[in-house]
Amino acid sequence: MLSYRHSFHAGNHADVVKHTVQSLIIEALKEKEKPFLYLDTHAGAGRYFLGSEHAEKTGEYLEGIARIWQRDDIPAELEPYLSAVRAYNKSGQLKYYPGSPLIAAQLLREYDRLHVTELHPTDYPLLRHEFLKDPRCKVLRADGYQQLKSQLPPASRRGLVLIDPPYEMKTDYQAVVQGIQEGYKRFATGVYALWYPVVLRQQIKRMVKELEETGIRRILQIELAVQPDNERRGMTASGMIVINPPWKLEQQMNAVLPWIHKVLVPEGIGHTKVSWITPE
Ligand code: SAM
Repeated sequence: MLSYRHSFHAGNHADVVKHTVQSLIIEALKEKEKPFLYLDTHAGAGRYFLGSEHAEKTGEYLEGIARIWQRDDIPAELEPYLSAVRAYNKSGQLKYYPGSPLIAAQLLREYDRLHVTELHPTDYPLLRHEFLKDPRCKVLRADGYQQLKSQLPPASRRGLVLIDPPYEMKTDYQAVVQGIQEGYKRFATGVYALWYPVVLRQQIKRMVKELEETGIRRILQIELAVQPDNERRGMTASGMIVINPPWKLEQQMNAVLPWIHKVLVPEGIGHTKVSWITPE
């Protein structure tokens, strides 16, 4: 089943948090001169036109990136992410939202590598088109979970793996844990960033418990809730689970997440969270 299209959701509150964390991890990896691999298992289309029928229909970006990108009190932690958003909107109008592979492409250096996979028959050609002239990047129409076995460890022995499935199928909640275990077996020093939605809190509690049971250490959880948990349909919160986070990430997210919450949810409901699932 491949009915999920990220074009309905690009630039929403979940993307703001996901791409802030992604950008901060990339910037931390760039502190060393050595090259690294950016592996994006569920890459999407790459670029999203915010005037499209899909984006207009939900208007989600209006309560996400649109509330943030041109403020004059932007915390330094958001700079790498927003510099990538600005690079795709040089006119000063917010027309396009860059998804995770384009944010990475913008921030990586010429000697870093990208490997991105996408299965959707419409989104894959769009993604491939974005990278036609980028020799750093390999784009495949392939299963993202499979890459955690076939592409790891990277030749550079340094890397960020972003795992961002649509959770259309309930099995994704287990598949991500298995995928992380497979990746970690091969590449225990890599940084793994797993995105999750909170639709039913119980599903996330189960997923976190399964992650704890893997025995993997150094797992940080970052979450923004725009509503209190509830049993109705729809996403009330989302987060990133980061294995082997760069040492500054906890402090950076503690500094910036309350600001993001205040700007995106002026009514003050929901919550923020930065805490260890398993420490050292
Ligand atoms: N990472 C993107 C971003 O932040 O801009 C958004 C990705 S979107 C949440 C999830 C994508 O995964 C969809 O485009 C979907 O078609 C794709 N997908 C679903 N199952 C997949 C699989 N097994 N392997 C690779 N891609 C898959």
